[in-house]
Amino acid sequence: MNQEMNCFFLLSLLLNTPTLQISMSHILKRKENKFLLIALVVFAISAATFFFNLHRYSENVTENIAVERKITQIDKIYNNYLTSIIHKRGYQFGLDKESLDRFLAYNKTNQLLINEFSKEVTGPEMEKLYEELVHSNLDRRDLLARHIAYLDSMTQEAALSIIISENPEILKTSLALENAFANLKEYLEGESLELEETGEKLTLVNNVGFVILGLLVVGFITGTFIQTRKQTLLEAEKENQEEILRITRNSEIQFSTSFQNAAIGMALVSREGRFTEVNRSLCKLLGYSEEELVGLTFQEITHPDDLFTDLEYAQQLLDQKIESYSMEKRYFKKDGETVWINLNGTAVWNEDGSFRHFIAQIQNITPRKLAFEALQDQKNRFENVIRGTNAGTWEWNVQTGETVFNETWAEIIGYSLKELEPISIQTWADFAHPDDLERSNEILQKCFTGESEYYECECRMRHRDGHWVWVLDRGKVMSWTYDGKPEKMFGTHIDISKFKSLEDILLQKEAFINAMLDTLDVGIVVCDEKGELKLFNRTTLALHGLDSKNIPQDEWSRHYHLLKEDGQTFLEKEEVPLYRAWKGEWVENQIICIRHTSGEVYYVSASGSQIRDELGNIQGAVVAMKNITESRKIGLELEERERKFKGIFNSTFQFIGFLDPDGTLVEANQTAMDFAGLKPADVVGKKFWDCYWWQISTETQEKLRSAIHQAAQGEFIQYEVAVWDKEKNPVTILFNLKPLFDSAGEVTAIIPEGRLVQEIVDARKSLEEKNKELERFASVASHDLKEPLRMIVSFLQLLERKYKGQLDEKADQYIHFAVDAAQRMNILISDLLDFSKVGNENTTKEEIDLNLIIKDQEGYFSQLLNESGGTLDFASLPIITGKKVPISLLFRNLIANAIKYRKPDLPPKITIEGKDCVDHWELSVTDNGIGVDSEYREVIFEMFKRLHTKQEYPGTGLGLAVCKKIVEQHNGKIWVESNPGSGSSFHFTLRKS
Ligand code: ADP
Repeated sequence: MNQEMNCFFLLSLLLNTPTLQISMSHILKRKENKFLLIALVVFAISAATFFFNLHRYSENVTENIAVERKITQIDKIYNNYLTSIIHKRGYQFGLDKESLDRFLAYNKTNQLLINEFSKEVTGPEMEKLYEELVHSNLDRRDLLARHIAYLDSMTQEAALSIIISENPEILKTSLALENAFANLKEYLEGESLELEETGEKLTLVNNVGFVILGLLVVGFITGTFIQTRKQTLLEAEKENQEEILRITRNSEIQFSTSFQNAAIGMALVSREGRFTEVNRSLCKLLGYSEEELVGLTFQEITHPDDLFTDLEYAQQLLDQKIESYSMEKRYFKKDGETVWINLNGTAVWNEDGSFRHFIAQIQNITPRKLAFEALQDQKNRFENVIRGTNAGTWEWNVQTGETVFNETWAEIIGYSLKELEPISIQTWADFAHPDDLERSNEILQKCFTGESEYYECECRMRHRDGHWVWVLDRGKVMSWTYDGKPEKMFGTHIDISKFKSLEDILLQKEAFINAMLDTLDVGIVVCDEKGELKLFNRTTLALHGLDSKNIPQDEWSRHYHLLKEDGQTFLEKEEVPLYRAWKGEWVENQIICIRHTSGEVYYVSASGSQIRDELGNIQGAVVAMKNITESRKIGLELEERERKFKGIFNSTFQFIGFLDPDGTLVEANQTAMDFAGLKPADVVGKKFWDCYWWQISTETQEKLRSAIHQAAQGEFIQYEVAVWDKEKNPVTILFNLKPLFDSAGEVTAIIPEGRLVQEIVDARKSLEEKNKELERFASVASHDLKEPLRMIVSFLQLLERKYKGQLDEKADQYIHFAVDAAQRMNILISDLLDFSKVGNENTTKEEIDLNLIIKDQEGYFSQLLNESGGTLDFASLPIITGKKVPISLLFRNLIANAIKYRKPDLPPKITIEGKDCVDHWELSVTDNGIGVDSEYREVIFEMFKRLHTKQEYPGTGLGLAVCKKIVEQHNGKIWVESNPGSGSSFHFTLRKS
C-alpha cells in the first residue's frame, strides 16, 4: 500500500507538473543539454527499475497467495482425511450406518479434493510429492475399504480381529499418507517462505529506489527549471532580436520612404556630426538646399549655448549609455536666424555591432517656445507680483490632501520650504493658532457648501521665534469633483501683522479717544456730513439723561430739550449749536439750557465747528458743551461778593491799593483818593512811587521803590512814612507792603496798605520822652538813692559792730534786720538800675565773641564755683552781633541762677552751648539744679516773680526779667525747658542781622 502511494505521488508529480511538461519539450529540443539528458537517463533507469520491481513485487505477492492457498487446501484434505478416519472408526466400533455414510462421504470428498489439488501442482518436485500423496492415499483408501468389507461381511468380532491382525499394514499406510501430506506441506511452506523473502528484498530495493528517484526528480525539476528559464529567456531575447531585426528591416524600408516625406525634419548624421542625409522638411526648416546641408556638421549650425549638451548626449549614445535622447536646442538657419527645435537623437548600429549613423528627428518648436516664453514671462510677472506683494501662495487638493506652498509661505513663519517638508494641509494646521482653527474651519465649510465664494480668514501662525504672526488667507475652490465635492483650492497667504498692529493701534486709539471723551467733563456731540448724530459722550448723556438717537435735525431741540437762556423756550433748529456748526458757523460759547429728563435745567456753554478732512471735505460737525450751571451760580455769587468787597474796599479807613509786582498801581481805594483829592485816572497805571502821595521827597520815593522791590521778592515790608495829603501837608502813616503769592510761590501782586498813625506817632513820641525822663529819673533816683542807702548801711553796720552785745538782744536783732533790708534794697536798686538801663545804652551793636564773654563770667564766678565745687563748660560758642554790656549781663544772670538754684547735695554743673539756626543763633545755659515746674515756666520771666522765699534762695525776681528785656532788644525770645528735680535749660535766640 505504502509503495503504491509513493508511486502514485511521484507519477502525479511528474505527470501533472506543467513546468515539467514544458521542460520536457524543451529538453527534447536541446541535444546539447547534456546535464538534462544524463538526468533523464538516470531518471528513466531508476524509474524502470522501480516499476519493474514494483511489478515483480506484485507477482511475488500473487505467487505467495497461491502457495498459501495450496497449503490451506492440503490442510483441508488432511483434516478431511482425519475426519473420515474418525467416522470409519465410529462405524468400526458402533457399526452405525450414519458413521459409515459419513466416512464414505468424507472419503469421497477426500478423493475429490486430491483430484482438484492436482491443478495446483506445479513443477516436477511438487508433482512427485503429489504423486506420493495420491499413491499413499489410494493405499490407505483400499485398506479402509477392505476393513469396511470385513465389517459388512462378517461379525464385528471377526472383522475386528482381522483388522487388528492387519494393524502393521494399517500403520504403514497411515504413516505413508501422513508423510506424503507433511512433505507436500513442507514443500509449499518452503516455497512460501522463499516468496516472502523475495518480496521483502524487492520492497527494500524499491524504497531505496524511491528515495533516489525523489532526489533525482527534485534535482531534475530544479535544474531543468533553471536551465529552462535561462533558455526561455535566451530564446525570448533571440526572438525579440529577430523581431527587432525583422521590424528594423521593415522599418528601414519604411524609414527610407517616410524619411523623405516626413513632416518633421530628419537627418542621418555621421559619427563626426556631419549630415549624411537630410529630408526636405529639415532643408525647409533651415533654409538650406539638400546639397548645402549635406556636408555641414550639426556643430556648425548649433547655437553655442546648446552645443555642449548636444555633444554630451551624442557621446553617451556612442558609448551606448543611452539608446536615445531628446533635447530642445537652437539651430542657426541659413539666413542667420535662430530656430528652436526639439531634437530626438538615436544611434543606429550595424549587425556586427559597429556604429552606423545617428538619426536625428528635428521638430520646429519655435512657435511653442515663443508661446512658452510668453507664458513663462507672464508666470514670472505673476510670480514677481506675488513676490512683490510678499504673498505666500497655497494650492490644496481637498480630496487628496496634497498641498503646495510657495517659499514666501514658509518665510512668513521663519522657515524655508525644505524645512517644512513633508508639506500637507496638516503643516498649516500645525502652525496655526489653536484658537483660530475652528473659525477657519467654519469659513471653509461655507466655501465648500457654496454659501460663500471666497475663503477669507485672518488667523495667527506660530513663527519660528515663537511669536504669533497675523496672516490673511484668501482662497477659492477652483475645481469640483463630478459629484460636487470641492477639489482644488488656490489661495494667498499674506502677513498682516503690521496692519494688525496698525489696526490694534487704531482700535487702541479709538478706545483711548472714547475713554478720554468719556472722562471729559465737557459734553461732546458729533454728527456726520449728513447731519446724523454719531457721537454722544458720557457727559452729554448726563446732561440730557438721554442716549444718542438718530432723529431728524428738526426734532433735535424738542427731543433733547434744548432751551434758550430763559430755561423755558425751545431753541429753533437754526439756534441749535450742532446744527449751526454743521451749517458751517463758528459757534463760540453759546449759552443754552438743557432740561434733563429729571426736570433739572443745566446751563451750558456750547462751542463748535465743522469737521473737515485734509482736502477740505466736510466730514460733519462737533460741539463741546460745558456745564456752567455751577460756575454761573458761583459767578453770580462772585459778582455779589465783589460788590460787597468794593464797598468795604472803598469805605475802609485805611488806604488800600493793588500793585503789580513791578510797582504799577492797578487800583487804589476811595479813602486813599479822597485823602489826596485824587481821581483813579490820576494814579492808576502809574508806578506807585511816582504817584502824588509819595512826591513829598525823592528819598521817600526811592525808599518806596526799593521797598516794592523787596516785597516783589516776597518780603513783608512795614515802615512809618510821611506822605502828602491834599494840601501837601506831611502826614505820617504806618505803611506796609504785603506780597500775594500764587500756588507756585511766585509773587503775583502787592497790596499796599497805609493807616494814619500821626496821632500814635505823636503819642509815642511823648511817651518815649516821658519814658526817657522816667528812666533818667530811675537812674538818677536809684543812683541818688544808693548814696544815702550806702550811708544807712555803713552806719547800721557800724552800729552793729560797735554796739553788738551792749544793747539787748532784740536791739541786736533789729539792727541786723535793718542792715539786711538795707543791703537787699541796695541789690534791688542795682537790679532796677540794670533793668532800666537795658535798651538805653549809648553803645551800638558790635561783633561779640561769646567765648570771651563766658571766659569773663567764669572769672567772675570763680570763687562761687570753687566753693560749690561747680563747673562751667562751654565750647566753640559763636561770634554774634549785639550790645556787649547787656549780653554779658544776660549770661551773668543765667549763670548766677544756675549756681544759685542748684541742688543742695550736688555741685552745680553748667553747660553753655550755641546752635546755628540759619538766620539766628540759639544759645542755652543748662544746669543740673532744682528745675522749674511747668506751670511757672512763663511767669518766672516777669518782673519780681519769684518761686522761693528769700530765706530759701535770696533774690529780687528781676534777673530773668532783665534777661528777657535784653533778648527782646536783640529781636530774640527766651524760654526755659526743665525737668523739675534734675535741672533747667534756659534757651534764647539772637538774630544774626
Ligand atoms: P531771683 O533769682 O532774683 O529770684 P530771677 O528773676 O532771677 O529772680 O528768677 C525768678 C525765679 O526763677 C527764681 O525765683 C527761681 O525760682 C526761678 N529760677 C531762675 N533761675 C533758675 C534756675 N536756674 N533753676 C531753678 N529755678 C530758677
